[in-house]
Amino acid sequence: MDFMDKSISFEKIKLLSEKYVMSTYRQSLCFEKGMGAYLYGSNGKAFLDFTSGIAVTNLGHCHPEIIEVIKYQSDNLIHVSNLFFNKIQPQLAEQLVACSELPNAKCFFCNSGAEANEGMIKLARLWGSSDDKYEIITMKQSFHGRTLATLTATGQEKVKKGFGPLPEGFVYADYNDLNSVKSLINSKTVAVMVESIQGEGGVIPADKTFLRELRKLCSEHNILLLCDEVQAGMGRTGKWFGFQHADIKPDVISSAKGLGNGFPIGALIAKDELSNVFQPGHHATTFGGNPLSSAVSLKVIEIIKKNNLLRNAEIVGNHLKTKLKESLKVFDWVEDVRGLGLMLGIVLNIEAIHLQKKLEENELLAIATAGNILRLLPPMIITIDEANKAVDIIIKSCEQINSEMMKLKN
Ligand code: PLP
Repeated sequence: MDFMDKSISFEKIKLLSEKYVMSTYRQSLCFEKGMGAYLYGSNGKAFLDFTSGIAVTNLGHCHPEIIEVIKYQSDNLIHVSNLFFNKIQPQLAEQLVACSELPNAKCFFCNSGAEANEGMIKLARLWGSSDDKYEIITMKQSFHGRTLATLTATGQEKVKKGFGPLPEGFVYADYNDLNSVKSLINSKTVAVMVESIQGEGGVIPADKTFLRELRKLCSEHNILLLCDEVQAGMGRTGKWFGFQHADIKPDVISSAKGLGNGFPIGALIAKDELSNVFQPGHHATTFGGNPLSSAVSLKVIEIIKKNNLLRNAEIVGNHLKTKLKESLKVFDWVEDVRGLGLMLGIVLNIEAIHLQKKLEENELLAIATAGNILRLLPPMIITIDEANKAVDIIIKSCEQINSEMMKLKN
């Protein structure tokens, strides 16, 4: 008996989903196969994927070396829990620490971005507990996850509504405004938590000077600087971590998404002085860093290094941004194109969902966020030709929206 119906129809998928899956998402498309920067729909259409599963499949879909490592590791050992050593986890930790450029840092592995941030919050609180410090300053418009602590850390009211009472100890500063952070510091402050580029909040990069001043401020006040690199990290911006553009060193970093190229894994990286804050019994997870997820993640880092994908993200990202800025100028409802590397946002003065839908009709996938921002997150293996193809589709889609607007006016 085979429970998996490989030829299930789209109608049946929708029916089963409606009946048995909680309706937390608005879904319309379904894909059967992925290859590189493309996703193939059940209707035979090929879509250029500029979502990368929300900044996850950074090496593209079904990368042959990722497939190979999954096959190899599942033939040998998938999971043993953290009751035992596993051969791969410490090798991954060594590589990740090297990427972080935090000398003698140590890692803790988990399964998702929210869980990594949850661990980062716990580590900061435990570190501050002897001085009765627990309050964390986060940024307005930030996004840190959907667990109770991380949604409280998130600087957006819409994710919190209805979930109270929320954990205490979070206050919110204006992003890119050092005085706003300063004004919130008090004797209870234990940390500042920040994204180097706000993703869900609308692809808003932190000013380099803001990050540098923030680093100084935290050191002066003996406060930890926590960098949430869940979305911007693992190479998407052209550096392993987004904060590296500002040349700063945070105290703790969280990572997930691209770390496993679609295989769930998250991590905390804590600098030397904080690397022994967690002792046995303080924090744990059943799956975190198991042999299979660690093997995939180790391969992800290897592929990025050997194929120079950081450089590719920088080059193709700059090309894409420049071309889009230039060619979208003619549309008076397009205000700007911003971001770093392959984490870009087209700023509109209309609802971005209109453009997202039009792009879908023209076989390009992108994500509307923060109302008026169209987020582009292509994989780091993207070529200049594929970037140009995406630009053509975006121009065509904008032209179509323009004519529809004209028709409505007349
Ligand atoms: N932090 C940031 C910056 C994110 O963008 C996200 C997800 O979009 C998260 C945390 C939460 O990650 P996850 O959905 O894996 O829990």
